[in-house]
Order: sequence, then structure tokens, then C-alpha cells
Amino acid sequence: MPEGDTIRRLANRIQRRFAGQRVERCVTRDPRLVGVDLAGSTLLGADAFGKHLMIRFDDGRTLHAHLLMTGSWTVGPAATEPAWRRRIELWMQDGRLTGLDVPILGMLRTADEASIIGHLGPDLCGVEQPDVDDITARLQRDPTGPLAGALLDQRNVAGFGNLYAVELPFIVGVSPNQPVGAVGGLEGLVAMGAAVIRTNADRGPQNTTGRKLHTDDHWIYPKRGRPCPLCGARLAGWADGESPWRRVSTWCPACQPVEAVREVDLVRARRLLALHPARREPSFPT
Ligand SMILES: [Zn+2]
Repeated sequence: MPEGDTIRRLANRIQRRFAGQRVERCVTRDPRLVGVDLAGSTLLGADAFGKHLMIRFDDGRTLHAHLLMTGSWTVGPAATEPAWRRRIELWMQDGRLTGLDVPILGMLRTADEASIIGHLGPDLCGVEQPDVDDITARLQRDPTGPLAGALLDQRNVAGFGNLYAVELPFIVGVSPNQPVGAVGGLEGLVAMGAAVIRTNADRGPQNTTGRKLHTDDHWIYPKRGRPCPLCGARLAGWADGESPWRRVSTWCPACQPVEAVREVDLVRARRLLALHPARREPSFPT
């Protein structure tokens, strides 16, 4: 899933491979890029903010992309997908940069980037350690809303997608349906979640268990109907569009009951993530 960690890794890859290189040829096949020709400009660098990718050029322009659920980029070799899927192709001095099926693409002035990302909450995968207290307060702005919906609202915090909105509540034993204002010790979940997504942004892949670290291994995503890996109860869930936050979800009704106030269980989190390298992140709650 393209979440904040995925986009940060992608931006770093583009930066390492192409920063400082001139665009030799540019082909676009997206109605929003009609008339755009980046040939002759130099790619200054790539950056990520939440799930937004920004590729900057020396003529004062930025190519903005959001991958939603479908988009991807090929960095280096020529893409082999059919032409209609290659929304933008840049022939760089040393290789090719291709946006595949990217649903949101646009050009803007670099000076105007705030018009796209200015409303977002703190970036989880940025250079600076995220401010856990600030993020916690933002998540609780609508205290009656469900925890998963608050985690997914990029105005609260930028970077978590649905994978983390399912896995993080499971790891701390709180239902994604629990009203966020009735989650005790929410800052512990934020600190743990920030440590996991930042670790995955650094090393990849999107591993939330600490097992099989070279794979996208998860506890319960997307395993609705299967037994809970901890207690064996049948995992419950929402189908797409059923949940108040309009995304699929999964939880264990035994490990994650909705209660008047439900405390974040950091003992459980430390046990479940005992082998995850996020335990070495400074923000991981002790
Ligand atoms: Zn369970």
C-alpha cells in the first residue's frame, strides 16, 4: 500500500538516482499534463510529505503525484507496461523515470507547494522526529469519531494509511471503532506507530510484526474471518464502504473490545513487536 513510508522510500530512490540530472525527453499521457514538457530542465530532487510526492525542477516547477491505491513509479530502467499506463515518462541522462497508473498528477510552481500540502498534519516520515503530543491532540479534535478514522485523516497526521489504521490498533489492543476521545494513553499508540512507520520508511518493506523482516508481514491485515493470531477468536471487520471511515477494516472482537474507556496496552505492543527494529527508534515508548 502506498503510505507515508512507501512514498518516503520512493522519493529517496528518485533523489539518489536522478538529482542533478537533466531531462532529455518528456512524454506525458495524462489530460492534466497536456502541454507540459520538462525536457531541458534539471531535476533538483524529490521529497515526500505524507503520501504526496514532490519532484522539483530547476525552472521553478514541481511535479506533484499522489498514488492513492493504484499508482507506482519505475525508477531507472524503462517501464515495460503498455503506453497508456505510462502517464509520464522522463528520459534522464542516466535512465528513465516513469509514473504508472498514477491517479493524481499535476504541475505547479514550487513556491506554491503549500496549496497542496499546507493543510496536512505533521509528517510522520520527515527528517524531524514527529511531535507526539501535537499529533495526539490533533487526533482527539473530534473525540467521538472512531480511532481508525482519526488516524486516516491526513489533516491530523500525514502518512498513516489503511494498513497502519488496522495494524496499530491491533498491536495495542484497541478497536479501530473505539471513539478516539475514549482511548486512554493514546500518545503511546502515536509514539509506537511513528516508530514503526519511520523504521519501515528507512529500511522497507511495510512490516508490522518483526517476523520475516524482508516481507510485508502483518498481524491481521487483511485477514477478516480468519482466527486471531493471539487468541484464536474469529476476526471481525468492515467491507469497503461499510465503515464510517469508508475503508475496509479488521479487528479481533476478543482482544480489541469497544469499552467506555479503553487503555492502550503497551505491554502487549512491546511483546508483539519484540523482534521489530522499530524497538530501537528513539520514539518507541519504553
Ligand atoms: Zn484476539
